[in-house]
Amino acid sequence: MQTRQHELLAAVPGTTRFIHSFHYGPADAEGKVYIQSSLHADELPGMLVLWHLKRRLAELEAAGRLRRPIVLVPVANPLGLEQVLMDVPQGRFDNDSRENFNRFFVDVSRQVGDSVEAQLTDDVDNNLRLIRSTLLRVMASQVPTTPLQSLRLVLQTLACDAEVVLDLHCDFEAVQHLYLSPEAWNRVEPLARYLGARACFMAEEAGGRSFDECFTLFWSQLRARFPGRLAQPGFAVTLELRGVADVSHELAGQDCQGLIDYLTHAGAIQGAAPPLPALLDQPTPLAGVEPLISPVGGVIVFCARVGDQLEAGQVVAEIIDPVTDHVMTVTCTRGGLLYVRSLRRMATAGMTIAHVAGVEAYRQGYLLSP
Ligand SMILES: [Zn+2]
Repeated sequence: MQTRQHELLAAVPGTTRFIHSFHYGPADAEGKVYIQSSLHADELPGMLVLWHLKRRLAELEAAGRLRRPIVLVPVANPLGLEQVLMDVPQGRFDNDSRENFNRFFVDVSRQVGDSVEAQLTDDVDNNLRLIRSTLLRVMASQVPTTPLQSLRLVLQTLACDAEVVLDLHCDFEAVQHLYLSPEAWNRVEPLARYLGARACFMAEEAGGRSFDECFTLFWSQLRARFPGRLAQPGFAVTLELRGVADVSHELAGQDCQGLIDYLTHAGAIQGAAPPLPALLDQPTPLAGVEPLISPVGGVIVFCARVGDQLEAGQVVAEIIDPVTDHVMTVTCTRGGLLYVRSLRRMATAGMTIAHVAGVEAYRQGYLLSP
């Protein structure tokens, strides 16, 4: 195992921070796996999973069982982790720019495409290697002007030549779910099965250039520009490891084992993978997710739990105004899996209090939360 430190641009002198990456397995082998956690800083279930995974990978490496390079970044956002305002972590948005840390990763597809265009041949594997090495070179030439840009560039550079990119997050109160591009489903399904994911959301483009999407879009743009010239480049997935308070050795150990089983199945770890468990729920379109909105303020009393299958019209919460005694119910109009609830219990008018995974796509445009 090799540890590397990546210096971030400091906002002011004397405050330098680093991203720490941990590199396992044969560095020169193809099929790199990249796993990071906690890009939204205080989303910590994934950080504990990677702590478990570091120990397991060290043992597997010592036993000579790693077949592909595996890179772990357990603390993907040291900037956000320090943003605690009056005892409340503020790790989702950068304090200076107010931008979501998981948006606006750079799009260098045109630059890379222009650079490789004259050199592409009929050898699709060689083309893939050429594009990956060019991508690394183009990423290295990017010059950040803010700590936030610097953070994004370090992470994107570490992951950009990987075949498998996993970005570990969590939601407020949630069952485990993941986001992927529909064309990656065949390769992501074993991961969803080994992890026991309850929902898998598919979207061609959710908008916002999130971490997983910056890789998915890069490869889809190059494949569209050079049809038939590229081998299958791999995939990137955002994994939501339940809720923000679901930090325990039991869950982290279980998720770590799921990742080990998947990596064994995928050939990154030598050995026989256990039989594939059943898929718990079929993938659904991200455009089928129904945000449940409270049109009034009041105390939220939930009437359904995460993991419940809801019927169309079912009451999900009561919103209670203790001044007027008015009680309003919030219902889901379309039905599906209640996969996330807010942590807050005082609704403000217009607030999204929960999300339901419906099976039919009905939304258009920007599909992510802010
Ligand atoms: Zn997140």
